[in-house]
Amino acid sequence: MNYECIQGDISQQNNIDAVVNAANAELQTGGGVAGAIHRAAGPELTEATRPLAPIEPGQAVITEAFNLPNDYVIHCLGPVYGKDEPSDELLADCYRNALELTEKYKIKSIAFPAISTGAFGFPFEQATKIALDTLAGHVSTLSHLKTIRFVLFSDKDYQRYQHALEQFS
Ligand code: ADP
Repeated sequence: MNYECIQGDISQQNNIDAVVNAANAELQTGGGVAGAIHRAAGPELTEATRPLAPIEPGQAVITEAFNLPNDYVIHCLGPVYGKDEPSDELLADCYRNALELTEKYKIKSIAFPAISTGAFGFPFEQATKIALDTLAGHVSTLSHLKTIRFVLFSDKDYQRYQHALEQFS
């Protein structure tokens, strides 16, 4: 597996088959990642997600990506930290379920934001460890996925993620 870590906007990822949305249960636009993805993808995305909602914490669903430069959006509902319990397991479920969709849809590259670490309040380092452990634990079962990109919005989060990734590999 090729792991990449960049600072940037999840709604502007070229050369990536699927981008992950840190969704809300209703799969509608909002703040943070969901707002950026829905704005860039256009109103068709909001229409496409309507019949799939609501989803539960840990779940992932897939749609087309419309005006985004990608083929698919995988919408994951992360846990609200300390409210949706067990938060650690529900966050791991997001990453695992996203990977399962890559296998089903023959997706070769995926970009993740730091799910649950914004409005949902998950401690950043703890969420990073869960993401990396869960992905590493499952990639050997995948036959299509070749690249996993982590997209961090702030420079501080990028530095922290890059550090965790270096420790990891
Ligand atoms: P959640 O509700 O799952 O916590 P948020 O969208 O509030 O999701 O935030 C998740 C993480 O994504 C936070 O670390 C936030 O800083 C970051 N983020 C916000 N906007 C973007 C964006 N456009 N691209 C990538 N990451 C973003």
